[in-house]
Amino acid sequence: MISDNLLSINKELPSDVRLVAVSKFHPLESILEAYEAGQRLFAESRPQELEKKIKSLRTLGSSGRESSDIEFHFIGHLQTNKLKLVLPYVSMVQSVDSRHLLEEIDKWGRGCGKVTDILLEIHVAAEETKSGLYEEEILDILWDAQKYRYVRFRGLMGMATNTDDVETIKADFARISQCFDYYRDLFADELPDFDQLSIGMSSDWRIALEYHPTMVRIGTAIFGERQ
Ligand SMILES: *Cc1c(COP(=O)(O)O)cnc(C)c1O
Repeated sequence: MISDNLLSINKELPSDVRLVAVSKFHPLESILEAYEAGQRLFAESRPQELEKKIKSLRTLGSSGRESSDIEFHFIGHLQTNKLKLVLPYVSMVQSVDSRHLLEEIDKWGRGCGKVTDILLEIHVAAEETKSGLYEEEILDILWDAQKYRYVRFRGLMGMATNTDDVETIKADFARISQCFDYYRDLFADELPDFDQLSIGMSSDWRIALEYHPTMVRIGTAIFGERQ
């Protein structure tokens, strides 16, 4: 049961860590079930799927079912030709993984006057396939942060190596957390809102808690296996 899963996760989560319910590949009904159980923040990873769910929710909302306080983050790879399917609907993009994407989000914002909250996705995991920015690229971007007036730099998102080896996972989270502290302190004057660290998924969120996240992103442990 989705509500039972939420209840038991929330019992273990410290009150200052936000639970992001990753609803990708799950039907709207699952989102509504979680909403009924009190969950307000969700995340999606595919632009079309996000847009479709948002529009269905709005239709339900206008027919009397209240869900106007629902909030979505985007956590997937975002192609720049899909921005308009995503940016109008989300309160944060957690997965900014290139300078090009950052520039396009800024340009989109300049066009319509919306400032987008973003996290930079940091690459630390061993697998070649994992996306994300290298530490030096993040530093380069943050030195230039004032150029991007329609982007608010809120922090880092990261994933640990996909492994059962707890020591490897710990080392990855430790590195991400260290980088986060370093950037936050270095740019404390320029970027006062750089205060969010998003680490931990279904398989490793309890480990992530040792490294001071402000958000954990959990899908399977709430909604079950994805189709
Ligand atoms: C799918 C996804 C999650 C959630 O994964 P689960 O293992 O189902 O909890 C978290 N973060 C990102 C970036 C994802 O793509």
